[in-house]
Amino acid sequence: MAEKVLTSFTVVEKMQDTGIEVIIVGAGIGGLWAALECWRNGHKVRILDKTKGPETNGDFFTLNPAACKAFKHWPQMKAEHEKAACRPSFSCFQCDGTSLLSHERITSQTTDEMGVTVEAELDTWRHLRPKLQQVLLRQLQRIGLSIEYGSCVTGYEETLDKGFVILDDGSRLEAGVVIAADGIGTKSGQMVLGHTLRARSSGSAVYRCAYPVEVLDTDLILSEHFRLYDGEGGASEMWIGPKLHLITTRNTETFSWAMTHRDNGMSSESWHSTSTPCQPADAIKAIENAWGNCPDILKRMIEITPADTLLDFKIMWRDPNPTWTSPLGRVVQLGDAAHTFVPSSGNGANQAIEDAVSLACCLKIAGQQDIPTAVRVHNLLRFERVSCAQITGFQNQANRENAHWDLLASHPESVKPKLGRWIWEHDAEDYANDNYANACQKLLCSAAFGNTNIPPGYKYRPWNIDQLLEMMESGDPIVFDGDWN
Ligand SMILES: Cc1cc2nc3c(=O)[nH]c(=O)nc-3n(C[C@H](O)[C@H](O)[C@H](O)COP(=O)(O)OP(=O)(O)OC[C@H]3O[C@@H](n4cnc5c(N)ncnc54)[C@H](O)[C@@H]3O)c2cc1C
Repeated sequence: MAEKVLTSFTVVEKMQDTGIEVIIVGAGIGGLWAALECWRNGHKVRILDKTKGPETNGDFFTLNPAACKAFKHWPQMKAEHEKAACRPSFSCFQCDGTSLLSHERITSQTTDEMGVTVEAELDTWRHLRPKLQQVLLRQLQRIGLSIEYGSCVTGYEETLDKGFVILDDGSRLEAGVVIAADGIGTKSGQMVLGHTLRARSSGSAVYRCAYPVEVLDTDLILSEHFRLYDGEGGASEMWIGPKLHLITTRNTETFSWAMTHRDNGMSSESWHSTSTPCQPADAIKAIENAWGNCPDILKRMIEITPADTLLDFKIMWRDPNPTWTSPLGRVVQLGDAAHTFVPSSGNGANQAIEDAVSLACCLKIAGQQDIPTAVRVHNLLRFERVSCAQITGFQNQANRENAHWDLLASHPESVKPKLGRWIWEHDAEDYANDNYANACQKLLCSAAFGNTNIPPGYKYRPWNIDQLLEMMESGDPIVFDGDWN
């Protein structure tokens, strides 16, 4: 594979100062992007995180083209992100070991310069979370922002003209707007909803791990099976079967596998392996229970996993909640704090990034005098889209675990991960700029307004996880009206 070399870059263009002071709670992927975009849009930023320093835990996730559009204003960061990530080939096996696809490129429908619909590879990248975080942190440093680590927020408050955070040492910090990007366990529920909305189990958990490829390569059979082909920077493999599916990713340095299984009550909600004492044998047992047998190659792969890298991560869930903003509009939730995702949606980080871009832009359009309107417009522009993206996780899980096995032999391409055009074509910044005025009219005087960033033809309807789990258990695909492709 050709070495990726970074050259010199144009500087990032910062917009005129808005005078808006922002406190961001949480330096995860959502909080970091919010910091960068708020700075670029001319706001004054302060970032707090409860950890002592950057987290090094986490394995792979995918950034789709809509989230990657956020890099367009950040040339050096864009180059570093592409250097750090890979575009893996895709293979797929059925649980009985039948190979369905081998090292194929993942494509989606798009339109070429002549206006013709074609299948093409999109701007989609697979990232190790800690590496992406490092890319974002370096950019933060280049623009002179730093994170106030060790700042644990215990609560949020607001008045008509300020938002406040309360820290665990009792101190109280204020800003024109506070962004709660403190993840799924956010402390902002009381402020935004009037009560703490506890996340519940989604019914699924994920055994997951990441470790150096050298460990895998000590076993020649595994090394050969999970090899990279010439020119590949990464390879992903999916195994599908009833009640369970598994995805592996390998790049030049790291190997990872993640197995979504039914939550047996033993999993934990923490990204730290030390808090979840689970063993490779537990994961093999989960496969045997679901499929009747564990294929040899998977057994080998699981057995070689260094025990201290494996965790059984409980996938927590909160049903879609249309309100992300506090009553006076001085506190707004972002990323996992506003919405949870199951991993098969491939959208947790993506939607957090879109949130960050949209919110920073809405604040710029509104200006210092109209912060509460900005956060409410942002909420209106984003909620239905995010809620539809949440549904895709259950659709993907049903496709992988309820597949019509006899049809797969003749249509193996149907298992390729699909990225709906409504997802990847979206540009959160353009959308906010184009729709702010109309959305504002909708909020202020109930003017007609409909979001166009959801599947075309789908009229948004509220839903909850129990309805989707029921559809999944029935063995049918999860299908709604409109064009989700
Ligand atoms: C350590 C870690 C590893 C992860 N690994 C993966 C992975 O491998 N694959 C995957 O798909 N997703 C992973 N995720 C989740 C994924 O990053 C998020 O779903 C997505 O990126 C949305 O990010 P977020 O910024 O909204 O939330 P998060 O990424 O969860 O970030 C929340 C941030 O808020 C901070 N925080 C929490 N509470 C407080 C508080 N009270 N006061 C101050 N700060 C607080 C946390 O320390 C964290 O930095 C991981 C998350 C974490 C925290």
